[in-house]
Amino acid sequence: MVLFAYVKRMHSLRQANDRLTKSSFGVLWACVVLMLFFSGCRRRSYDTTIGIEDPRQTWIRVLLFDNLTECTVTSMSGFAVTELAGSRKAQFHTEEPIPVRIHKGQLACGEHEFGSALEIQPYDPFVFDLNGEPYRGYLRLRLSEDATGIEVVNALPIEAYLLGVVGMEMYSYWEPEALKAQSVVSRTYSLYIKNRFGDQRSWDVTATEASQVYRGLKAESSTIRQAVLSTAGQVLTETRPDGRQVVFPTYFSSSCGGHTEEAGHVFGDTTGAQAAVECSYCAKTARRKDFYWQPVRYSMEEISRKLIQRYPSLEKLEQIRDFEVIETGYLSRVTRVQLRGKNERFETLRGEDFRLSLDPTGRRLKSAVFTVQKSGDNVVFGNGRGFGHGVGLCQYGTQELARQGNEYRRILDFYFPDSGLVSIQTSINP
Ligand SMILES: [Zn+2]
Repeated sequence: MVLFAYVKRMHSLRQANDRLTKSSFGVLWACVVLMLFFSGCRRRSYDTTIGIEDPRQTWIRVLLFDNLTECTVTSMSGFAVTELAGSRKAQFHTEEPIPVRIHKGQLACGEHEFGSALEIQPYDPFVFDLNGEPYRGYLRLRLSEDATGIEVVNALPIEAYLLGVVGMEMYSYWEPEALKAQSVVSRTYSLYIKNRFGDQRSWDVTATEASQVYRGLKAESSTIRQAVLSTAGQVLTETRPDGRQVVFPTYFSSSCGGHTEEAGHVFGDTTGAQAAVECSYCAKTARRKDFYWQPVRYSMEEISRKLIQRYPSLEKLEQIRDFEVIETGYLSRVTRVQLRGKNERFETLRGEDFRLSLDPTGRRLKSAVFTVQKSGDNVVFGNGRGFGHGVGLCQYGTQELARQGNEYRRILDFYFPDSGLVSIQTSINP
Protein backbone atom coordinates (compact mmCIF):
# COMPACT_ATOMS: atom_id res chain seq x y z
CA MET A 1 0.00 0.00 0.00
CA VAL A 2 2.85 2.34 0.88
CA LEU A 3 4.65 1.37 -2.30
CA PHE A 4 1.51 1.98 -4.37
CA ALA A 5 1.10 5.44 -2.89
CA TYR A 6 4.71 6.22 -3.62
CA VAL A 7 4.50 5.10 -7.26
CA LYS A 8 1.32 7.13 -7.71
CA ARG A 9 3.10 10.16 -6.37
CA MET A 10 6.00 9.56 -8.73
CA HIS A 11 3.59 9.61 -11.66
CA SER A 12 2.14 12.85 -10.56
CA LEU A 13 5.67 14.21 -10.24
CA ARG A 14 6.28 13.16 -13.80
CA GLN A 15 3.14 14.88 -14.96
CA ALA A 16 4.13 18.02 -13.11
CA ASN A 17 7.64 18.07 -14.46
CA ASP A 18 8.40 16.52 -17.85
CA ARG A 19 12.00 17.58 -17.53
CA LEU A 20 12.66 14.96 -14.89
CA THR A 21 15.98 13.45 -15.88
CA LYS A 22 16.95 9.80 -16.24
CA SER A 23 19.31 10.12 -13.28
CA SER A 24 16.41 11.37 -11.10
CA PHE A 25 14.48 8.26 -12.11
CA GLY A 26 17.46 6.19 -11.15
CA VAL A 27 17.45 7.72 -7.68
CA LEU A 28 13.70 7.20 -7.35
CA TRP A 29 13.89 3.57 -8.42
CA ALA A 30 16.75 3.04 -6.01
CA CYS A 31 14.45 4.42 -3.30
CA VAL A 32 11.70 2.02 -4.37
CA VAL A 33 14.12 -0.92 -4.24
CA LEU A 34 15.30 0.18 -0.79
CA MET A 35 11.70 0.53 0.41
CA LEU A 36 10.92 -2.95 -0.85
CA PHE A 37 13.99 -4.24 0.95
CA PHE A 38 13.10 -2.56 4.23
CA SER A 39 9.42 -3.44 4.05
CA GLY A 40 10.58 -7.04 3.51
CA CYS A 41 12.73 -6.74 6.62
CA ARG A 42 9.83 -5.32 8.60
CA ARG A 43 7.53 -8.12 7.52
CA ARG A 44 10.04 -10.68 8.72
CA SER A 45 10.86 -8.79 11.91
CA TYR A 46 8.71 -10.90 14.24
CA ASP A 47 11.04 -12.88 16.41
CA THR A 48 10.21 -16.56 16.64
CA THR A 49 7.56 -17.56 19.15
CA ILE A 50 9.40 -18.55 22.28
CA GLY A 51 9.16 -22.13 23.51
CA ILE A 52 6.98 -23.44 20.70
CA GLU A 53 9.37 -26.19 19.68
CA ASP A 54 10.41 -27.06 23.24
CA PRO A 55 8.55 -30.16 24.49
CA ARG A 56 9.06 -29.08 28.12
CA GLN A 57 7.01 -25.90 27.68
CA THR A 58 3.66 -25.57 29.35
CA TRP A 59 0.95 -24.56 26.89
CA ILE A 60 -2.23 -22.62 27.44
CA ARG A 61 -5.45 -22.45 25.39
CA VAL A 62 -7.01 -18.99 25.18
CA LEU A 63 -10.63 -18.58 24.12
CA LEU A 64 -10.65 -15.67 21.66
CA PHE A 65 -14.25 -15.98 20.42
CA ASP A 66 -16.95 -18.47 21.31
CA ASN A 67 -19.38 -17.97 18.45
CA LEU A 68 -18.03 -16.59 15.18
CA THR A 69 -19.79 -17.43 11.93
CA GLU A 70 -16.69 -16.83 9.79
CA CYS A 71 -13.19 -15.38 9.98
CA THR A 72 -10.05 -14.93 7.92
CA VAL A 73 -6.59 -16.29 8.65
CA THR A 74 -3.35 -14.93 7.20
CA SER A 75 0.25 -15.86 7.81
CA MET A 76 3.26 -14.39 6.05
CA SER A 77 5.17 -17.64 6.63
CA GLY A 78 2.33 -19.84 5.32
CA PHE A 79 0.51 -22.40 7.44
CA ALA A 80 -0.64 -26.01 7.64
CA VAL A 81 -4.21 -27.00 8.47
CA THR A 82 -4.96 -30.31 10.17
CA GLU A 83 -8.35 -31.86 10.80
CA LEU A 84 -8.60 -32.61 14.53
CA ALA A 85 -11.21 -35.35 14.36
CA GLY A 86 -9.98 -36.86 11.09
CA SER A 87 -6.97 -37.07 8.83
CA ARG A 88 -7.45 -34.33 6.24
CA LYS A 89 -4.59 -31.86 5.83
CA ALA A 90 -3.79 -28.86 3.66
CA GLN A 91 -1.05 -26.29 3.32
CA PHE A 92 -1.33 -22.65 2.38
CA HIS A 93 1.59 -20.66 1.00
CA THR A 94 0.06 -17.30 0.37
CA GLU A 95 -0.10 -13.98 2.16
CA GLU A 96 -3.71 -13.53 1.06
CA PRO A 97 -6.33 -13.86 3.81
CA ILE A 98 -7.92 -17.34 3.74
CA PRO A 99 -11.59 -17.37 4.71
CA VAL A 100 -12.80 -19.92 7.26
CA ARG A 101 -16.56 -20.47 7.25
CA ILE A 102 -19.28 -22.97 7.91
CA HIS A 103 -20.22 -24.88 4.76
CA LYS A 104 -22.77 -27.73 4.69
CA GLY A 105 -22.34 -28.37 8.42
CA GLN A 106 -18.54 -28.51 8.20
CA LEU A 107 -15.66 -26.11 8.66
CA ALA A 108 -14.20 -24.95 5.36
CA CYS A 109 -10.77 -23.32 5.15
CA GLY A 110 -10.41 -21.79 1.69
CA GLU A 111 -11.61 -24.53 -0.69
CA HIS A 112 -10.86 -27.38 1.73
CA GLU A 113 -13.38 -28.99 4.09
CA PHE A 114 -12.32 -30.21 7.54
CA GLY A 115 -15.24 -31.64 9.50
CA SER A 116 -16.06 -30.17 12.91
CA ALA A 117 -12.63 -29.10 14.20
CA LEU A 118 -9.29 -28.06 12.76
CA GLU A 119 -5.94 -26.68 13.83
CA ILE A 120 -3.98 -24.03 11.95
CA GLN A 121 -0.21 -24.16 12.47
CA PRO A 122 1.76 -21.27 10.97
CA TYR A 123 5.43 -21.91 10.16
CA ASP A 124 8.30 -20.09 11.84
CA PRO A 125 7.98 -17.46 13.45
CA PHE A 126 4.64 -19.16 14.30
CA VAL A 127 2.60 -15.98 13.92
CA PHE A 128 -0.79 -15.66 12.22
CA ASP A 129 -3.39 -12.94 11.75
CA LEU A 130 -6.97 -13.64 12.72
CA ASN A 131 -9.27 -11.06 11.12
CA GLY A 132 -6.20 -8.85 10.76
CA GLU A 133 -5.06 -9.13 14.41
CA PRO A 134 -1.67 -10.83 14.95
CA TYR A 135 -1.24 -13.71 17.41
CA ARG A 136 1.47 -16.22 18.23
CA GLY A 137 1.11 -20.00 18.33
CA TYR A 138 -1.63 -22.16 16.85
CA LEU A 139 -5.29 -21.59 16.16
CA ARG A 140 -7.96 -24.19 16.90
CA LEU A 141 -11.39 -23.81 15.40
CA ARG A 142 -14.30 -25.94 16.53
CA LEU A 143 -17.84 -26.02 15.23
CA SER A 144 -20.64 -25.71 17.78
CA GLU A 145 -22.87 -28.77 18.24
CA ASP A 146 -25.68 -27.25 16.20
CA ALA A 147 -23.11 -26.23 13.53
CA THR A 148 -24.08 -22.55 13.66
CA GLY A 149 -21.00 -21.01 15.29
CA ILE A 150 -17.23 -21.42 15.51
CA GLU A 151 -15.28 -21.51 18.78
CA VAL A 152 -11.88 -19.87 18.25
CA VAL A 153 -9.01 -20.87 20.55
CA ASN A 154 -5.38 -19.71 20.44
CA ALA A 155 -3.03 -22.40 21.81
CA LEU A 156 0.51 -21.27 22.65
CA PRO A 157 3.35 -21.69 25.16
CA ILE A 158 2.66 -19.90 28.43
CA GLU A 159 5.59 -17.47 28.13
CA ALA A 160 4.46 -16.38 24.65
CA TYR A 161 0.94 -15.95 26.06
CA LEU A 162 2.24 -13.72 28.87
CA LEU A 163 3.90 -11.41 26.33
CA GLY A 164 0.34 -10.60 25.23
CA VAL A 165 -1.06 -10.25 28.78
CA VAL A 166 1.29 -8.33 31.07
CA GLY A 167 1.15 -5.12 29.00
CA MET A 168 -2.66 -5.23 29.10
CA GLU A 169 -2.73 -5.61 32.87
CA MET A 170 -0.01 -3.10 33.80
CA TYR A 171 1.43 -0.03 32.03
CA SER A 172 4.43 -1.12 29.98
CA TYR A 173 6.33 2.05 30.99
CA TRP A 174 6.20 1.16 34.69
CA GLU A 175 9.26 0.16 36.70
CA PRO A 176 10.99 -3.03 35.48
CA GLU A 177 10.68 -4.69 38.90
CA ALA A 178 6.93 -3.91 38.99
CA LEU A 179 6.53 -5.51 35.56
CA LYS A 180 8.44 -8.57 36.75
CA ALA A 181 6.17 -8.90 39.80
CA GLN A 182 3.13 -8.65 37.49
CA SER A 183 4.64 -11.28 35.17
CA VAL A 184 4.99 -13.80 38.02
CA VAL A 185 1.50 -13.04 39.29
CA SER A 186 -0.07 -13.32 35.81
CA ARG A 187 1.81 -16.58 35.12
CA THR A 188 0.71 -18.09 38.44
CA TYR A 189 -2.90 -16.99 38.06
CA SER A 190 -3.24 -18.38 34.53
CA LEU A 191 -1.72 -21.73 35.56
CA TYR A 192 -4.07 -21.91 38.52
CA ILE A 193 -7.11 -21.32 36.27
CA LYS A 194 -5.80 -23.84 33.72
CA ASN A 195 -5.23 -26.50 36.40
CA ARG A 196 -8.56 -25.90 38.04
CA PHE A 197 -10.89 -25.62 35.03
CA GLY A 198 -8.97 -26.62 31.89
CA ASP A 199 -9.87 -30.34 32.07
CA GLN A 200 -13.56 -29.56 31.91
CA ARG A 201 -13.52 -27.54 28.69
CA SER A 202 -11.77 -27.06 25.34
CA TRP A 203 -9.90 -23.95 26.55
CA ASP A 204 -8.10 -22.85 29.71
CA VAL A 205 -8.59 -19.08 29.99
CA THR A 206 -10.57 -16.34 28.26
CA ALA A 207 -8.93 -13.32 26.62
CA THR A 208 -10.94 -10.91 28.78
CA GLU A 209 -11.00 -9.61 32.33
CA ALA A 210 -12.87 -12.78 33.31
CA SER A 211 -9.38 -14.35 33.26
CA GLN A 212 -6.77 -11.79 32.20
CA VAL A 213 -6.84 -9.44 29.23
CA TYR A 214 -4.86 -10.89 26.29
CA ARG A 215 -4.29 -9.12 22.97
CA GLY A 216 -1.66 -11.23 21.26
CA LEU A 217 1.21 -9.48 19.50
CA LYS A 218 -0.43 -6.08 19.74
CA ALA A 219 0.23 -6.02 23.48
CA GLU A 220 3.92 -6.87 23.22
CA SER A 221 6.75 -4.40 23.85
CA SER A 222 10.43 -4.61 24.72
CA THR A 223 9.87 -3.79 28.42
CA ILE A 224 7.18 -6.47 28.75
CA ARG A 225 9.37 -8.98 26.95
CA GLN A 226 12.23 -8.26 29.34
CA ALA A 227 9.96 -8.68 32.38
CA VAL A 228 8.36 -11.93 31.20
CA LEU A 229 11.51 -13.63 29.95
CA SER A 230 13.69 -12.64 32.90
CA THR A 231 11.17 -14.35 35.21
CA ALA A 232 10.34 -17.23 32.82
CA GLY A 233 8.91 -20.25 34.60
CA GLN A 234 8.71 -18.55 38.00
CA VAL A 235 5.46 -18.98 39.92
CA LEU A 236 4.19 -18.40 43.43
CA THR A 237 3.15 -21.44 45.43
CA GLU A 238 1.67 -22.09 48.83
CA THR A 239 2.15 -25.17 50.93
CA ARG A 240 -0.84 -27.42 51.56
CA PRO A 241 -1.26 -29.23 54.90
CA ASP A 242 0.01 -32.44 53.24
CA GLY A 243 3.22 -30.64 52.29
CA ARG A 244 2.48 -30.22 48.58
CA GLN A 245 3.42 -26.92 47.00
CA VAL A 246 0.67 -25.71 44.69
CA VAL A 247 -0.07 -22.61 42.63
CA PHE A 248 -2.93 -20.56 44.02
CA PRO A 249 -5.12 -17.74 42.65
CA THR A 250 -2.75 -14.77 42.76
CA TYR A 251 -5.39 -12.05 42.49
CA PHE A 252 -4.35 -8.50 41.76
CA SER A 253 -6.14 -5.18 41.62
CA SER A 254 -5.37 -1.58 40.80
CA SER A 255 -5.12 -0.05 44.29
CA CYS A 256 -6.10 -1.63 47.59
CA GLY A 257 -7.01 1.65 49.30
CA GLY A 258 -4.56 1.18 52.20
CA HIS A 259 -4.98 -2.50 53.18
CA THR A 260 -5.36 -5.60 51.06
CA GLU A 261 -8.20 -8.03 51.77
CA GLU A 262 -8.34 -11.79 52.24
CA ALA A 263 -9.62 -13.70 49.21
CA GLY A 264 -12.13 -15.61 51.33
CA HIS A 265 -13.85 -12.39 52.41
CA VAL A 266 -14.22 -11.11 48.88
CA PHE A 267 -14.61 -14.19 46.67
CA GLY A 268 -15.40 -16.92 49.19
CA ASP A 269 -12.24 -18.81 48.16
CA THR A 270 -11.02 -21.51 50.45
CA THR A 271 -7.73 -21.86 48.58
CA GLY A 272 -5.15 -19.11 48.39
CA ALA A 273 -5.62 -18.15 52.03
CA GLN A 274 -2.95 -15.49 51.89
CA ALA A 275 -2.78 -12.99 54.74
CA ALA A 276 -3.97 -9.46 54.05
CA VAL A 277 -1.38 -6.70 54.52
CA GLU A 278 -1.34 -3.01 55.30
CA CYS A 279 -0.23 -1.08 52.21
CA SER A 280 0.72 2.57 52.52
CA TYR A 281 2.22 2.60 49.02
CA CYS A 282 -0.68 2.87 46.57
CA ALA A 283 -1.85 6.17 48.11
CA LYS A 284 1.45 7.69 46.98
CA THR A 285 1.22 6.58 43.34
CA ALA A 286 -2.44 6.11 42.38
CA ARG A 287 -4.33 8.95 40.73
CA ARG A 288 -6.10 10.90 43.44
CA LYS A 289 -9.54 10.62 41.83
CA ASP A 290 -9.15 6.84 41.63
CA PHE A 291 -7.91 6.53 45.17
CA TYR A 292 -10.37 8.89 46.91
CA TRP A 293 -13.31 8.51 44.60
CA GLN A 294 -16.38 10.71 44.43
CA PRO A 295 -19.65 9.70 46.16
CA VAL A 296 -22.00 7.68 43.95
CA ARG A 297 -25.78 7.96 44.24
CA TYR A 298 -28.46 5.39 43.31
CA SER A 299 -32.16 5.23 44.03
CA MET A 300 -33.38 2.16 45.93
CA GLU A 301 -35.51 1.27 42.92
CA GLU A 302 -32.41 1.35 40.69
CA ILE A 303 -30.50 -0.81 43.15
CA SER A 304 -33.34 -3.35 43.22
CA ARG A 305 -33.56 -3.47 39.42
CA LYS A 306 -29.81 -3.84 38.90
CA LEU A 307 -29.48 -6.59 41.53
CA ILE A 308 -32.37 -8.62 40.09
CA GLN A 309 -31.03 -8.10 36.57
CA ARG A 310 -27.69 -9.63 37.60
CA TYR A 311 -29.16 -12.32 39.87
CA PRO A 312 -32.61 -13.36 38.55
CA SER A 313 -33.00 -15.69 41.58
CA LEU A 314 -33.49 -12.53 43.68
CA GLU A 315 -36.93 -12.21 42.07
CA LYS A 316 -38.15 -14.30 44.98
CA LEU A 317 -37.84 -11.10 47.07
CA GLU A 318 -40.31 -9.50 44.59
CA GLN A 319 -38.55 -6.18 44.96
CA ILE A 320 -35.58 -5.19 47.11
CA ARG A 321 -36.76 -2.58 49.59
CA ASP A 322 -33.64 -2.15 51.69
CA PHE A 323 -30.19 -3.54 52.42
CA GLU A 324 -27.79 -3.60 55.35
CA VAL A 325 -24.05 -4.12 55.48
CA ILE A 326 -23.68 -7.09 57.81
CA GLU A 327 -19.96 -7.85 57.49
CA THR A 328 -16.88 -5.76 56.78
CA GLY A 329 -13.17 -6.48 56.38
CA TYR A 330 -10.08 -4.29 56.59
CA LEU A 331 -10.72 -0.54 56.06
CA SER A 332 -14.40 -1.42 56.65
CA ARG A 333 -14.48 -2.93 53.16
CA VAL A 334 -18.03 -4.20 52.64
CA THR A 335 -17.81 -7.98 52.40
CA ARG A 336 -21.43 -9.04 52.99
CA VAL A 337 -24.76 -7.35 52.45
CA GLN A 338 -28.22 -8.47 53.53
CA LEU A 339 -31.08 -7.64 51.18
CA ARG A 340 -34.67 -7.20 52.43
CA GLY A 341 -37.46 -7.97 50.00
CA LYS A 342 -40.88 -6.40 49.61
CA ASN A 343 -42.29 -9.69 50.93
CA GLU A 344 -40.01 -9.48 54.02
CA ARG A 345 -37.80 -12.29 52.78
CA PHE A 346 -34.05 -11.90 53.11
CA GLU A 347 -31.03 -12.81 51.00
CA THR A 348 -27.32 -12.14 51.44
CA LEU A 349 -24.75 -11.22 48.83
CA ARG A 350 -20.98 -10.74 48.91
CA GLY A 351 -19.94 -7.08 48.97
CA GLU A 352 -17.98 -7.36 45.72
CA ASP A 353 -20.97 -8.96 43.93
CA PHE A 354 -23.22 -6.23 45.29
CA ARG A 355 -20.88 -3.50 44.00
CA LEU A 356 -20.47 -5.04 40.54
CA SER A 357 -24.24 -5.52 40.23
CA LEU A 358 -24.75 -1.79 40.66
CA ASP A 359 -21.79 -0.82 38.46
CA PRO A 360 -20.55 -3.71 36.26
CA THR A 361 -17.74 -1.55 34.85
CA GLY A 362 -16.46 -0.76 38.36
CA ARG A 363 -15.54 2.72 37.15
CA ARG A 364 -17.92 4.69 39.37
CA LEU A 365 -18.30 2.46 42.40
CA LYS A 366 -14.59 1.74 42.31
CA SER A 367 -14.27 -0.53 45.31
CA ALA A 368 -16.28 -2.01 48.17
CA VAL A 369 -14.55 0.34 50.63
CA PHE A 370 -17.40 2.82 51.14
CA THR A 371 -19.92 4.07 53.68
CA VAL A 372 -23.66 3.97 53.03
CA GLN A 373 -25.95 6.91 53.64
CA LYS A 374 -29.67 6.54 53.01
CA SER A 375 -32.09 9.40 52.73
CA GLY A 376 -35.60 8.65 51.51
CA ASP A 377 -35.33 6.67 48.30
CA ASN A 378 -31.73 7.72 47.72
CA VAL A 379 -28.57 5.86 48.70
CA VAL A 380 -25.18 7.55 48.64
CA PHE A 381 -21.99 5.47 48.64
CA GLY A 382 -19.36 7.79 50.07
CA ASN A 383 -15.84 7.88 51.53
CA GLY A 384 -14.68 5.51 48.80
CA ARG A 385 -11.08 4.28 48.87
CA GLY A 386 -9.06 2.39 46.29
CA PHE A 387 -9.82 0.87 42.90
CA GLY A 388 -10.68 -2.80 42.45
CA HIS A 389 -11.36 -5.77 44.72
CA GLY A 390 -8.26 -5.21 46.88
CA VAL A 391 -7.17 -8.87 47.09
CA GLY A 392 -3.57 -9.95 46.52
CA LEU A 393 -1.11 -7.76 44.65
CA CYS A 394 -1.85 -4.03 44.78
CA GLN A 395 -0.56 -2.76 41.43
CA TYR A 396 -0.04 0.90 42.34
CA GLY A 397 1.57 -0.23 45.58
CA THR A 398 3.83 -2.49 43.51
CA GLN A 399 4.89 0.43 41.32
CA GLU A 400 5.68 2.54 44.38
CA LEU A 401 7.68 -0.29 46.02
CA ALA A 402 9.63 -0.75 42.77
CA ARG A 403 10.31 3.00 42.61
CA GLN A 404 11.72 2.80 46.11
CA GLY A 405 14.23 0.24 44.86
CA ASN A 406 12.60 -3.04 45.92
CA GLU A 407 13.25 -6.12 43.79
CA TYR A 408 10.24 -8.03 42.47
CA ARG A 409 10.88 -10.96 44.84
CA ARG A 410 10.62 -8.59 47.80
CA ILE A 411 7.40 -7.07 46.40
CA LEU A 412 5.81 -10.51 45.89
CA ASP A 413 6.86 -11.53 49.38
CA PHE A 414 5.19 -8.41 50.75
CA TYR A 415 1.79 -8.95 49.07
CA PHE A 416 1.82 -12.77 49.31
CA PRO A 417 3.56 -13.30 52.65
CA ASP A 418 2.70 -17.00 52.93
CA SER A 419 3.96 -17.95 49.48
CA GLY A 420 7.18 -19.23 47.96
CA LEU A 421 8.71 -18.38 44.57
CA VAL A 422 9.63 -21.50 42.60
CA SER A 423 10.59 -22.29 39.02
CA ILE A 424 8.40 -24.74 37.10
CA GLN A 425 10.85 -25.15 34.25
CA THR A 426 14.10 -23.64 33.10
CA SER A 427 13.88 -24.29 29.39
CA ILE A 428 13.81 -20.67 28.26
CA ASN A 429 16.96 -18.58 28.06
CA PRO A 430 16.06 -14.95 27.41
ZN1 LIG B 1 -2.21 -0.71 48.08
